[in-house]
Amino acid sequence: MDREQIYYQSTRGEGGKVTASQAILQGLAPDGGLYVPDHLPKLDVPTAELAKMHYREVAFEVLKLFLTDYTEEELHHCIDSAYDAKFDSEEIVPLKKADGLTYLELFHGATIAFKDMALSILPHLMTTAARKNGLDKEIVILTATSGDTGKAAMAGFADVPGTSIVVFYPKDGVSYVQKRQMITQKGANTCVIGINGNFDDAQRGVKEMFGDKALAEKLAAEGFVFSSANSINIGRLVPQVVYYVYGYAKMVAAGEVTDGEPIDICVPTGNFGNILAAHYAKCIGLPVRNLICASNDNKVLYDFFRTGTYDRNRDFILTISPSMDILISSNLERLIYESCGAAKDPAAAAAKNRALMAELSSTGKYAVIDEMTSYMKDFIPGFATEQETLEEIRKVYENAGYVIDTHTAVAAYAADHYVAGLKESGEKVLPVLVASTASPFKFSRAVMHAIDPEHFSDEEAAPEEEWGVVDALSALTGLPLPPTVTEARSAEVRHPGTAEVSEMQEKVEMFLKRHK
Ligand SMILES: *Cc1c(COP(=O)(O)O)cnc(C)c1O
Repeated sequence: MDREQIYYQSTRGEGGKVTASQAILQGLAPDGGLYVPDHLPKLDVPTAELAKMHYREVAFEVLKLFLTDYTEEELHHCIDSAYDAKFDSEEIVPLKKADGLTYLELFHGATIAFKDMALSILPHLMTTAARKNGLDKEIVILTATSGDTGKAAMAGFADVPGTSIVVFYPKDGVSYVQKRQMITQKGANTCVIGINGNFDDAQRGVKEMFGDKALAEKLAAEGFVFSSANSINIGRLVPQVVYYVYGYAKMVAAGEVTDGEPIDICVPTGNFGNILAAHYAKCIGLPVRNLICASNDNKVLYDFFRTGTYDRNRDFILTISPSMDILISSNLERLIYESCGAAKDPAAAAAKNRALMAELSSTGKYAVIDEMTSYMKDFIPGFATEQETLEEIRKVYENAGYVIDTHTAVAAYAADHYVAGLKESGEKVLPVLVASTASPFKFSRAVMHAIDPEHFSDEEAAPEEEWGVVDALSALTGLPLPPTVTEARSAEVRHPGTAEVSEMQEKVEMFLKRHK
């Protein structure tokens, strides 16, 4: 096996280079930066061949380019363990053409949201990394969640030997279905606790545990080591590159685009992980013209790409696309670092990036220079208000009989708006691939309200009524309820526990004692 080696280095410049498996075990770099590849590989399989491949085979072709210290056998093992019957579609990622756009359905995994794409393989990449690096301890994943990530992480890590996972969620800050999904989680190595506080409180508690050296030593003596399944882990980012390559190849196969002709990609964006993966796909050679970055009312990124100023000093708005309610898009740092000229001079780029990130943490904002803006000119900002999001769901349903979720609708609206702009200015219209990030069943209330506002209000109701909304959506679409929804409805509650923020550490230690 003769593969060109890729190493990972921090966007803040310290600590030198590490292998992919080391970067995956560590998550965040020790200097607080994000790991990035020291150079970007090139896709070396012709599209015509990719077009004939199963998702697992495309995954192998992409992962082997980035995770170069994993053997081919190790990669096959990880891929086969992740993209299997947990997905309710044999294709893993089906494509649907509807109302002028092509949807890449990323929600056929265990928890029916796109986070499953990365979190179903991360546990295997991590346990393999542990073995490769001679780590003899059990990996304990600590996560604070505002709803989607925690459940997807648990579904990924449940019953994976050599790991356990503890999830904290704000007791009164997640939707009814999300809460049911979490407290019914199976797996002897899982632990879920509702916190008396909001998401930030839970997040702070987790960060404190990560930073506590005495705790780390105590747990190490008992055979445990903490790790994180956060979206900044390159073990989450790299698996997301796969589906853009796969999507393009399938569009070629379907005759929607000729081999080599570019497409535009539109992504509903929060933490900037998913769209950054699309950017990486472009960098390794996928024919992509523009990346449309779609935001909801929390449009920090929209403003950034328009003005060159990132400013988080604004009200946090709760929307019907909650997984995009974010004011600090962590993964943007990787693009900032690139735009500072990292390809030519990594040390100088890291220094510039460090200064900008220090400004962000002290003042809540920073401005980039023209050179950087022009580096990112293929990122086209778009956004949809709450009303526009609802209207888009209704429009797509009425025109095509296709039901999309609220997050996907933000992207669909932005894509339509973008295409209209191209037509107006006489620019070439290319096929648009839209990342469809959640099943409509996950956000049934808002979706039914969009389609049938007379019968469905936008107010959450009593639990029995919430299940009624899910049933109505099933009747409308003719689609069966996804297993995760049926399970959340009927499975026994396994994790009734709640705690104060001050008790979080004690809860973790108690769980690990019992679990041992
Ligand atoms: C997490 C999430 C997003 C945002 O993805 P980022 O990678 O954070 O930009 C969009 N839609 C859904 C349904 C999500 O769960």
